[in-house]
Amino acid sequence: MSIAHNIQHLQTLLPAHVRLVAVSKTKPVSDLMEAYTAGQRDFGENKIQEMVSKWEELPKDIQWHMIGHVQTNKVKYMAPFVYLIHGVDSLKLLKEINKQAAKNNRVINCLLQVHIAEEDTKFGMDKEELARALSPEVLSTLSNVKIKGLMGMATFTDNQSQIEKEFTFLKNLFDTYKNTHGLDTLSMGMSGDYELAIKTGSTMVRIGSSIFGHR
Ligand SMILES: *Cc1c(COP(=O)(O)O)cnc(C)c1O
Repeated sequence: MSIAHNIQHLQTLLPAHVRLVAVSKTKPVSDLMEAYTAGQRDFGENKIQEMVSKWEELPKDIQWHMIGHVQTNKVKYMAPFVYLIHGVDSLKLLKEINKQAAKNNRVINCLLQVHIAEEDTKFGMDKEELARALSPEVLSTLSNVKIKGLMGMATFTDNQSQIEKEFTFLKNLFDTYKNTHGLDTLSMGMSGDYELAIKTGSTMVRIGSSIFGHR
């Protein structure tokens, strides 16, 4: 199946309130262009250098999502153009994003990544770190970042009830802060688990292999 077909097919399956981020990491710009021509405007990358070079080559109305782990010293390269940073997992990183956003006269959208998986290899904040990052004392010092919501990755397993439990945990945290903090984005769900993610309250899915094929 073609990339255009896969995008159109996915769009028929996704509810109107769920936004599709096409995860294009490792894929050539010709593949991204095919998705773009099919109407796709949100693209996700997990390496900053790769995102920068694709941004340079591709149409400027694309919204670039950084979905990978971000090293503090690389924030400056994407600060001029990144649309949403999904993997913000420390206060130190949030402060650096704020600093680089200010230098570029921008407010950068961020999602706080929460550790929901069983494996301890995955990045993310715990409940306490999240509460700290969302406290008035911290937020009042960060005028160039906008925290739009939360992001999480479930355990890589076939156990559906385990995945559901982890997504539900994240959805409950999201609801705790949603109204007080004006959050509107819950980024959860990939090719293998997006249906379950949507069922449990996702508003943004990050889908790669179901669109572009295996990496
Ligand atoms: C690669 C990646 C995805 C997409 O994974 P697929 O299984 O190809 O859909 C989603 N989220 C993150 C954080 C990723 O690194």
